[in-house]
Amino acid sequence: MHALNPIFLPGPTNLPEALRRACDIPTMDHRSAAFGPILASAMAGVKQVLGLSEGEVAIFPATGTGGWEAAVTNTLRPGDKVLAARHGMFSRKWIDLCQRHGLDVEIVERPWGEGVPVEAFAAALAADTGHRIRAVLVTHNETATGVTSDVAAVRAAMTAAGHPALLMVDGVSSIGSIDFRMDAWGVDLAVTGSQKGFMLPAGLAIVGIGPKALAAMETSGLPRCFFDIRDMLGGNYPYTPPVGLINGLAVSTGLLLEEGMEAVRARHHRIAEGVRRAVAAWGMTTCAARPELCSDTVTAIVTPDGVDAGRIVRHAAEAYGVAFGGGLGEVADKVFRIGHLGLMSDVMALSGIATAEMAMTDLGLPVRLGSGVAAAQEHYRNSRTAPVRAAA
Ligand SMILES: *Cc1c(COP(=O)(O)O)cnc(C)c1O
Repeated sequence: MHALNPIFLPGPTNLPEALRRACDIPTMDHRSAAFGPILASAMAGVKQVLGLSEGEVAIFPATGTGGWEAAVTNTLRPGDKVLAARHGMFSRKWIDLCQRHGLDVEIVERPWGEGVPVEAFAAALAADTGHRIRAVLVTHNETATGVTSDVAAVRAAMTAAGHPALLMVDGVSSIGSIDFRMDAWGVDLAVTGSQKGFMLPAGLAIVGIGPKALAAMETSGLPRCFFDIRDMLGGNYPYTPPVGLINGLAVSTGLLLEEGMEAVRARHHRIAEGVRRAVAAWGMTTCAARPELCSDTVTAIVTPDGVDAGRIVRHAAEAYGVAFGGGLGEVADKVFRIGHLGLMSDVMALSGIATAEMAMTDLGLPVRLGSGVAAAQEHYRNSRTAPVRAAA
């Protein structure tokens, strides 16, 4: 990739200069008084971004995957039943992690491109009169297919069924970018990582823990040591914390909160809508099956029959030094993805749309140069807001 070009991956995302500097600090004694305020500031910022008032935040030196493992092992017991939908690469991997931990996963299969099936979940919960299901897993934003699911509706279904299971949400590619409300949606455990909405390098697993999940930790029984949340509470690190990244997280949450979470969400929606209009102008479709499922952080674009989507990604990288996301799993050859989360503006998005057009035209796809750019330009002109200063 070329350092002058933004990247259009749905994680890791572009790194604001302010965060690159925040991570690049001299070695610090993490047992000294200097570290406490940095950690406290990062944790307080994360709680605000999560919309979590009563509860805790644990920050592990890991990635989002470690966050899944922390959520599951700290609150469940061997053989516990969990309910999950499989509709993309990340929901698939989270289910695999649960199974490797000996959990009994009731899987609802959905086509890739669909969201979490609230009605099927409601039926499974209603049928579970003995309350054997201990947790309901929701992948809020399926990064492989560009599909956002309705977390609040899943909670409403649980409430309607009078079901006491924990609600665990993978918010790795949604938190810090699109609407996410831990308290309001009754989310018991929320998982994310540093390299997506928080615009930092990879290296932190961030877990929000609500009161019900904290209580469940008392009776959980899966083996855990590195990921034991109890050792992390009260800001005590049982091992060496990545001080630079945590300082980065404190500054990152500051940038997001300064912009305002509503403004952050509106910016992501506006940019994503421009990308979607470009896709329509190309005569192509999204992997997301219906408009209301389309993610505001990543757009997965279906390529015409017989066109290997991977060629577009490889060609854009080789010819123009621009990174797009490739297809994953079941849609490996069929989609390429434009990530538009984190440090992203309308002007940056236009360069990505223009590059995708050049790459597709080079490869002989029936795309007219400028067609997607023009469609996005119209949308961006007509929905203009003041440029964001804070994320610079
Ligand atoms: C990126 C991602 C993950 C995995 O996170 P890592 O930090 O790569 O471990 C999990 N879930 C979703 C939805 C993601 O986008």
